[in-house]
Amino acid sequence: MSVTIDLSGKTALVMGVANARSLGWAIAEQLLQAGCRVGFSYQGERLKGELEKLTKDWPNTWIQQADATSEEDMDALFARVKDEFSELHLLVHSIGFAPRTAMDGRFIDTTADDWNTALNVSAYTLVAAARRAEPLMPDGGSIISLTYHASQQVVPRYNVMGVAKAALEAATRYLAADLGEREIRVNTISAGPMRTIAARSIPHFGKLYNKGAMNAAFGRNATSEEVGKLALFLLSDLSSGITGQTIYVDAGLSIMTVKETAED
Ligand code: NAP
Repeated sequence: MSVTIDLSGKTALVMGVANARSLGWAIAEQLLQAGCRVGFSYQGERLKGELEKLTKDWPNTWIQQADATSEEDMDALFARVKDEFSELHLLVHSIGFAPRTAMDGRFIDTTADDWNTALNVSAYTLVAAARRAEPLMPDGGSIISLTYHASQQVVPRYNVMGVAKAALEAATRYLAADLGEREIRVNTISAGPMRTIAARSIPHFGKLYNKGAMNAAFGRNATSEEVGKLALFLLSDLSSGITGQTIYVDAGLSIMTVKETAED
């Protein structure tokens, strides 16, 4: 059986594409292939050229700079969404950041500044985006973000980002409750480790990635394409009854404690 998802006539905003390896781009590719019109926001001018290159063969796209922590940038971004699309159907939040200083040492030493930055950028910006998206979604919609299992269990060095991801998952539930009566769904995808720019800033990420591949039920890590496919499901009507959930795409890593090997 084959299922074709047709998103022609739909509009999406994707926030947080740095390059072709970004999970936001893996999701955008699925949306574009399904015929969706897609606007992109990027944090700084540094990323503009990369995004221009990625979107040049897709006529149904536009890009705009927006630091998600700036009220002014966010207002301008959603004004652009209204101008371009008039109605927004889908929102993808693929943004995360914690200062390196917060991930180099012990969690107990997290400063208030680093805490505030990590939670502001990685969790509050979802709330700020959803609030601006709501009036543009009169006929319902679907909002997704990206989280990681360090919200539930300790992952060495992930530190305050684990707390930020726990906040993001809780915010997903509260937003889903607020927006439920308007049939705006809010879910978050918990992805296994993937080699992206954001991941490179996590100390010892290479080890985490290799251990992930060894321990996962599949004996490999999930791929960004698999993240894109789950996102497409959550952004389409196939998932019409699902909201407020954290859904894993991690090749069965989070279900394992210790994996037996041939030597055991
Ligand atoms: P990525 O390609 O580096 O994407 C992260 C994006 O967030 C970048 O485009 C970055 O822009 C943007 N960003 C950071 N601060 C921002 C701000 N203030 N305003 C606007 N944009 C901002 O890395 P990724 O791995 O795809 O990350 C996407 C999401 O997936 C994140 O939420 C991440 O935590 C999550 N995730 C990743 C993994 C993994 O292993 N890679 C696993 C689970 C979940 P700049 O480059 O300009 O900073």
